Amino acid sequence: MQKNIPFNVPFLTGKETEFFEQAIQKRKLSGNGEFTQRCQDWFQSQLGTNKTLLTTSCTDALELSALLINIEPGDEVIIPSYTFVSTANPFILRGAKVKFIDSRKDHPGIDEEAIEQLVTKKTKAIIPVHYAGVACDMGKILGIAKKHNLKVVEDAAQAVDSYYKGKPLGTLGQLGTFSFHETKNISCGEGGLLIVNDPDLATRSEILWEKGTNRAAFWRGEVDKYGWVDVGSSYLPSELTATVLWAQLERLKDIQKRRVEIYNIYFDSLSSLIEKGVQLPFIPQYATCNGHMFYLVCRSAEERSSLIAHLKSKEINAVFHYLSLHSSPFFKDKHDGRPLPYSDIYTDCLVRLPLYYTLTEEDQNLVIDEVLKFFAEWS
Ligand SMILES: *Cc1c(COP(=O)(O)O)cnc(C)c1O
Repeated sequence: MQKNIPFNVPFLTGKETEFFEQAIQKRKLSGNGEFTQRCQDWFQSQLGTNKTLLTTSCTDALELSALLINIEPGDEVIIPSYTFVSTANPFILRGAKVKFIDSRKDHPGIDEEAIEQLVTKKTKAIIPVHYAGVACDMGKILGIAKKHNLKVVEDAAQAVDSYYKGKPLGTLGQLGTFSFHETKNISCGEGGLLIVNDPDLATRSEILWEKGTNRAAFWRGEVDKYGWVDVGSSYLPSELTATVLWAQLERLKDIQKRRVEIYNIYFDSLSSLIEKGVQLPFIPQYATCNGHMFYLVCRSAEERSSLIAHLKSKEINAVFHYLSLHSSPFFKDKHDGRPLPYSDIYTDCLVRLPLYYTLTEEDQNLVIDEVLKFFAEWS
């Protein structure tokens, strides 16, 4: 009998329910409690940054970022087209004009060389996305930002435990964001993190996070009452979310080791496809692999559809990824018409293979065999 190999299985460490019950028993379920603090302290020390705030999602962390850097109607932001809608929506919601930019030829990350020509007097920020957890060339991006006085918000949703020249992703821009959605390396169902690297934004970040109040400072005993001091919204998750995340953080090392192992086995076993013109993930010298994703870029859209169908017939679930945002139903009339050919190639040709902590050696070998079999027949 064939067995079904899913694309993703969220990993649970077994400690989640224990911590969940602890929080229940303490009757402290609202946000910014003990587990939230534990998670935030852990990230703050691991990342060596100014402040970290747990959020209900990475999308929310990006919304907080747009507020913190004072995005206003008329401002322009530069965002890769090959990304999730959540990279762009928070800036659109504040009235910004998005200038979409192409991907690189060698990997789906932002084409750093194309950024500067899009900068105008109205440009306020660059939002690089570390696709598949692989660092963008942050040296180049930060250089452009400095020269033109722009903010950098890293969408590091997929980039937990990944580095640029030894520095953790998410800590290089003024702000960075992680996602703990169940499709990410570590997860709590829905959740995210705002990483505040610019010390000038630290105090305000906590206020916007707490609905525009200084309640966080009040809890620390820094002010004797709390009140409405700024705009804000409800960005903090409940303690129950934090308990699940804490269970995952305890096991991060182990989770990462296994994911990178699976990635390496895929890479070594499938590298013969490169000769045929199939593109495999590329990790630049300055970047690291965090085992978030393993993908192939097929030679045509038809080839990709056939590969997905072939794997499906063997009950292996491989999936495509983003659809270029510049040509989406929502945005296509707003796009300035620049062709973004690589974003479109990844839209049509990229396919992701099953990768999760509990993927067995046997199942992975099955996936590899079927991929190799497919390409042996297709060329
Ligand atoms: C997953 C993801 C997001 C959204 O994360 P949520 O936590 O689901 O809001 C944003 N950007 C990228 C690049 C992602 O991969």
